[in-house]
Amino acid sequence: MFALDLASQLEALIILSIIAILALKFRLLDRLGVAASIPIGYITIVFAGLRYFLILLAFFTISSLATKFRVKILGEEFIEKDWVRGWRNVLANGLASTFIIIAPLFFSQLTSQLMTIGFLGALGTAFADTLATEMGLLSRHEPRMIINLRKVEKGTPGAVTLYGYLGSMLALLILCSLAWILQLADQLMIVITIIAGILGTTIDSLLGAGLQQKYRCTVCGRIVENPKHCDKPAEKYSGISWINTHIVNLLSTSMGAMIAMLLYILLA
Ligand SMILES: [Zn+2]
Repeated sequence: MFALDLASQLEALIILSIIAILALKFRLLDRLGVAASIPIGYITIVFAGLRYFLILLAFFTISSLATKFRVKILGEEFIEKDWVRGWRNVLANGLASTFIIIAPLFFSQLTSQLMTIGFLGALGTAFADTLATEMGLLSRHEPRMIINLRKVEKGTPGAVTLYGYLGSMLALLILCSLAWILQLADQLMIVITIIAGILGTTIDSLLGAGLQQKYRCTVCGRIVENPKHCDKPAEKYSGISWINTHIVNLLSTSMGAMIAMLLYILLA
């Protein structure tokens, strides 16, 4: 069982306060983004421990720096993806791993190994998907739609590039190296995290291509994921109205966690 001692709670509050101030100062998160990230960080430190929090922090910091780097090169206006992360982005990427951490409190069958591999599967997917997006946007090549491989404009939900998959592999190598150094994962867990992360990212693209609500800009004609483009409301094009990019992220990170746990049950 988890020990909810006062020291670890105090430690969590101090660490999170410092990170919240830095995240605001360097504009990695907006205010609501910070508010959403505090309970996620708190639960991760208090219920799972600092090693898990370091993995979460590495994901958040490297993803934010990658976004800053892309915005610096391409400009804010290039693609209207949120570049100061807000609460929706934080929850979409952090809810699945947080749920896995507290799940053993409700389901006694969940061993600590399953919790660890589920956590790595969820964050592996989130990290792989984020670096895939950033690397894909920076690539010179036009992306292709994952379902029919037709060339599409950058930023179209469901678009994939080879660069994107290289970004995913880079994210998973960073995550797994850290998990290995922190002695959170053994060899089997590393292999499973990489498989689950790549599959989770692919599921993200499939959901983006299939279910996600897409809009057509009435000015420039692009297919986009936001209901506004070129400063004008865009018209609905395809997909299900309540499934936006954040819901797709939440679904794919949950799937990444489930794939990882299932593989671990089958192979361990
Ligand atoms: Zn437009």
